[in-house]
Amino acid sequence: MQLSSLWGKQIIAKKKLKDSETSYTNGLLRARYNDSEWTPARFKSFITSALRTATRKWPPKYKALKEACIGRKVNKATNKMAYHYKCAHCRNLFVQKDVQVDHIAPVVDPRMGFEGWDIFIDRMFCEKDNLQVLCKTCHSVKTQLEKKERTLRG
Ligand SMILES: [Zn+2]
Repeated sequence: MQLSSLWGKQIIAKKKLKDSETSYTNGLLRARYNDSEWTPARFKSFITSALRTATRKWPPKYKALKEACIGRKVNKATNKMAYHYKCAHCRNLFVQKDVQVDHIAPVVDPRMGFEGWDIFIDRMFCEKDNLQVLCKTCHSVKTQLEKKERTLRG
């Protein structure tokens, strides 16, 4: 089989996909994922979660945490010395397990939806200036607001 006919097949397959499906693939067209056992949405969430795991090793994330660290003080819950971090929103102090590093401009723009993997990766692995430390409560409020905006967009 010639390469050109392979490309032809891909183009035909792309036309058959609905808009909602092509938005998952964004150019990286696949006829099937895991022998068609997975939907494009399942594949997308698989890749998203793998990328999120990789951010654990992304140095700017640690720079953001370090910047929010106010030093060691007594943790009221345990009565032991522990590093505390200032939430960028409520300004209260928390131990590390109670804070999260947040993307100030979200990885997926709620008004635009998923815009493709290039943009997704670029924003996921952003520089420190787009990262902030939030306590779990503030982070969850922000996430809910973004979700709401996404739903309103439809
Ligand atoms: Zn907070």
